[in-house]
Amino acid sequence: MSIRELYQDLILDHGRSPRNLRPLEGDHREAEGNNPLCGDQLTVYVQLEDDRVADVSFTGEGCAISQASASMMTEQVKGLSRDEAEALAERFHDLVAGEEALPDPDELGKISVLAGVKDYPTRVKCATLAWHTLKAALEGWDDVVTTED
Ligand code: ZN
Repeated sequence: MSIRELYQDLILDHGRSPRNLRPLEGDHREAEGNNPLCGDQLTVYVQLEDDRVADVSFTGEGCAISQASASMMTEQVKGLSRDEAEALAERFHDLVAGEEALPDPDELGKISVLAGVKDYPTRVKCATLAWHTLKAALEGWDDVVTTED
C-alpha cells in the first residue's frame, strides 16, 4: 500500500469513527482551537497525572482531516509525559509543514502518514489544529488558539 493510499485510508477511518471523541470529566485542562480558514473547531481535554497524559480526548466539528488528526493525536499522546507530548507536537508541525523530509514511522507511528497533507497546503492547518490545541491545553492557556502559520 502506498503512503498516499494509507493516508486516505486513515483519514477516512478516523474521520468516520473518531477515537476519544468525548469531553473529560473531573480534574482536567482543556483548550479551544479554531481554524477559520476551514471552519474547524476543536476542544482538547487533557488529564495529567504525575506530569503524564493519563487521558486525552476532544470534541468539535470540522472537516475529515481535522477530525482524523485529532483522533490520531489522542491515540498517540496518551501515556506520554508532558514533555514528550509537547515534543511530538513540535515534530508533527515540522513534519506537515514539510520541514522534515522523511518521517520515521517507527518513531512517529501512524501520524507520520499525515505527512501526506503536505501535498495539500490548504489542509495543513486542519491537520495541525489538534496539536496546537493540545499544546495550549498542556500549557494551561486560557485563550482560544487560532492556527497562524
Ligand atoms: Zn479543515
